[in-house]
Amino acid sequence: MIDLLCSHLEDCGTPRYFCFSIRCEVCGEFWYSSSVPFSKAAQAARHQEKKELYDALYQREKQRARLSAGQEARERFSQCPICRRLVCDTCFLICDEMDLCRECAGRMQEFGEPVAP
Ligand SMILES: [Zn+2]
Ligand SMILES: [Zn+2]
Repeated sequence: MIDLLCSHLEDCGTPRYFCFSIRCEVCGEFWYSSSVPFSKAAQAARHQEKKELYDALYQREKQRARLSAGQEARERFSQCPICRRLVCDTCFLICDEMDLCRECAGRMQEFGEPVAP
C-alpha cells in the first residue's frame, strides 16, 4: 500500500520546502501532505559554489519527505478492492460485506458510511 501511495504522490514542493499531493480518483479532490522545510535552504541560496552539494542534500531529504508523505496519506486514502483506485476517506465506504469506494458501492447497491464524512 505504501508503494502504491508513493507512486501516486505528485511533487509540489519548491527549493525551500517539500510537499506532495495525491488526487482522489473518485471525487478528484487534492490532498496535500504537511510541508517539510529543506534544512539547508538558506545556505543553498547563499552558496552557489556548493550547488551540487546542496542539490544532493536536497534529493536526500526529499526522499525522506516523500516516504513520510506516503505514511501520512495512508491515514487518508484507501484502495478500492473492486476498481483498484486510490480513493479518499470521504469516498470510501464501510459496507457490510466489503469496504468499497462510493462508485462501486453505488453500482452494486451496497450501502455504507464513509470513513470520514
Ligand atoms: Zn474522494
Ligand atoms: Zn471502486
